[in-house]
Formats: sequence, structure tokens, C-alpha cells
Amino acid sequence: MLEDGFWYGPIMDQHIHLDRRNLYLKAIEEFVKVGGTAINLVHKPDFNNLPRKISEYRILYQDTVEMANEIRNSFDIDVSVILGPHPVSWEKQIKTLGDVNSTKLHLEAVELALEFISDGHAVCLGEVGRPHYQVNKKTWENANQLLLEIMKITAKEKVSIQLHVEDNGKETYADISKLCEMTGMPKEKTIRHFAPPDLNSEFTCGISSTISVGKGSIERIIDTMKESESIWGMETDFLDDVKRPGAVLGPKTVPKRTQHLCKKMWELDYSDNQIIELMENIHSRWPKVIYS
Ligand SMILES: [Zn+2]
Repeated sequence: MLEDGFWYGPIMDQHIHLDRRNLYLKAIEEFVKVGGTAINLVHKPDFNNLPRKISEYRILYQDTVEMANEIRNSFDIDVSVILGPHPVSWEKQIKTLGDVNSTKLHLEAVELALEFISDGHAVCLGEVGRPHYQVNKKTWENANQLLLEIMKITAKEKVSIQLHVEDNGKETYADISKLCEMTGMPKEKTIRHFAPPDLNSEFTCGISSTISVGKGSIERIIDTMKESESIWGMETDFLDDVKRPGAVLGPKTVPKRTQHLCKKMWELDYSDNQIIELMENIHSRWPKVIYS
């Protein structure tokens, strides 16, 4: 599967959004063309047109599941679905629905996602979490209370979660780790999405992560992976948004960075077996462990 530092095995993007109104299948075509073999398709919220009722969430979740089927029918790749209400949706809906109703709808949308997961249509709750931008004190406290509530539920139901959180370095991980301890949520199944390329276990506190593999990330991954005992993978968080083409990262990025990582390891005299083991871990073995 590895020839002269080039990887021919599985390559998974663990966090990608698609939109029927934009590239949709064409994005997957690009991904497959450069060697992509698996994705987590994450429900894409439309922040300009947010659901006001749980029945509207059901339609949106169903559509994500339907998209996953269409991808499976068109391409020979593995598609897993991640469903959940986005924390930014909750924060925006405070303004339209009010505190109480926004939280109520959010928790209903969590329960609904769990229903899809227990029916086998999805593998993980996500992305849930808390706003990544400055909010007022009350909203921040409520966001934390809500996240605690959600993690209690996933711990009880033994479901993994992909977290969308702020980027405050080690403090963010330390905080998530505290929430894991308070709720009994296993750290392994608590996956920080849009994670920085810092794999040192002292930094991640044992929380799993999907690394946003932008420019320069591979160098940082190589620098820190020896100190890592936690599970990690790669993602683009591709938004398939007509106004932000190629954001957050384009669909070819994970295959491209995977080859970059292999080549670098090869140049650094890692053995073939070491490279193969890492590739199989991040792109196949570990995802099977963390997504239920
Ligand atoms: Zn996302």
C-alpha cells in the first residue's frame, strides 16, 4: 500500500459538509480523483434559514442521510453521517426564538439525531459545542450548561460527539476534559473538530481530534505526534458554500496532505511499517473506534 513514500490505502476526511445547491457530488469527484476513500458527511446548517421546529430538523437530517446514499450510489467510497444542531444555530436562535425556546429546540434536535444514530442512519452527534466567537457572559454560561447537558446524554447513550468549540489553545482542551469527567463521557469518543495540528497529549488532554490540515499543519503534526497518545484524524470542514469557495479547506486537501505526511516521514527515515501503521490508524482503524 506504500510505494516510495506514496500511500495507496484508505484516506478519510472526517468532517465535510455538502450542499445540493453548490458543488455537491462534484466535490466528492475531486476528492476521489486524488485518492479519497471515506468521509464523514456532517449536517450543514443554513444560518440564513434555520429550522424553527423539530419537524424541520427532521427534514434536514433526512436530507443529509439521503445525500450520503446518493454519494454511495455514485462513488465507491465509505460515507458515514454525523447529525446534530450547530452551536451557532442555537446562539443565533436566541435572538429569534428567545433563550428558553432556542435551548428547548436544540435539545430536541439532539434527541432526534440520537434517534437517527440508533436507527443506524448516522454514527455520531455533531457538530455540537459552543460558539467559537465572543458572546456575552450569560450566553456563554448557558452554552456551557447546554453542552454539559448534551454530553450527559451522549455519555448515557454511549454515542460519540464531534465538538465545535472556540480556539483557546490548551485551555479549550482542558475544559473539554473537565466536561468529560463531569459527565462520564469517554475522552476517546469526544472528538474536537477543527483542531489545531498539535498532537502532544499534554496539549490534547487525551481528547480525540480531527485536525484542520491547512498549510504548515503537516510539519507541526510531525513535530508533535511522537508525544501523542490520543486518537486523531484529518478534516477539511469543506463548507460547499458558493460565497466561500474552497472554505474552510477544499475537498482535495486531506488526500494531498496525507501524501505530504507520508513523503515527509519517508524522508525522515521512518520505516514503511511505521508509515503504514499510522496511515491505517488515522484513516481506518481509529475512525472505527471513535464513531459508534
Ligand atoms: Zn463543520
